[in-house]
Amino acid sequence: MLTGKTALVTGSTSGIGLGIAQVLARQGARLVLNGFGDAEAARKAVAEAGGHAVSEVLHHPADMSRPGDIADMMDFAAREAGRVDILVNNAGIQHVAAVEDFPVEKWDAIIAINLSSAFHTTRLALPAMRAADWGRIVNIASTHGLVASALKSAYVTAKHGLVGLTKTVALETATTGVTCNAICPGWVLTPLVQQQIDARAAKGVPKEQAERDLLGEKQPSLQFTTPEQLGELAAFLCSPAGINVRGVAWQVDGGWTAQ
Ligand code: NAD
Repeated sequence: MLTGKTALVTGSTSGIGLGIAQVLARQGARLVLNGFGDAEAARKAVAEAGGHAVSEVLHHPADMSRPGDIADMMDFAAREAGRVDILVNNAGIQHVAAVEDFPVEKWDAIIAINLSSAFHTTRLALPAMRAADWGRIVNIASTHGLVASALKSAYVTAKHGLVGLTKTVALETATTGVTCNAICPGWVLTPLVQQQIDARAAKGVPKEQAERDLLGEKQPSLQFTTPEQLGELAAFLCSPAGINVRGVAWQVDGGWTAQ
């Protein structure tokens, strides 16, 4: 159980981040949410999952591409919730284009949001975690932190970088009660992936076939992973049994990287 712990999950108004926040709330953690869109709906969903009052679930609207916003968010979490015990670096975006056509501003945004934000949250969360000799950092990388796909240069670069950051932080904290690990999901049916299915469907492929094709090309189980399944893995990494799991990049990819 995570009663008495505070968890900050970046990008938790939607998809995987919201699912992880709900599982951590169910385990008793107090949540600080972050992300764009309908923050009130996310706070309500997390409160319901944890049996908490909505007022107990906090949200900070920091833009993860801006180091100044990230510092404000970390100050807010320390001020309102005491400190961050569990940090889940999850916010992420995608853009698909050939490298020679890749818009420079999209490259910069993906590196900032999917990679550099985790450096900033980690460097700001670590001092209090070290002082308490307890902390859990869970980075939501991707199968694309381990292998590449064409047309995703910025995303693959950022996610490989996030796996590298995970290993480095795990080594720097190896003798402490702070652990740092990455989770590497394959396909999870969230708005981020729905966009890619819709792009296929827009070319005239029926939606169900677009989903089947997307899975069939990469994910041998032919099943999507759910945000809740990823939340349960994050909860395990936060549990006492996870104390000596350090610096892993744990695939939840239906066999994608086993091929
Ligand atoms: P999603 O689009 O459903 O959610 C993304 C979240 O990040 C939202 O809450 C959004 O508001 C937030 N966000 C986006 N830009 C932000 C910014 N600049 N500042 C703050 N918040 C921002 O996506 P998802 O599929 O749930 O993806 C979550 C993470 O999981 C991402 O890092 C993604 O790369 C990773 N991932 C997703 C899949 C998948 O199949 N969906 C697979 C592997 C890894």
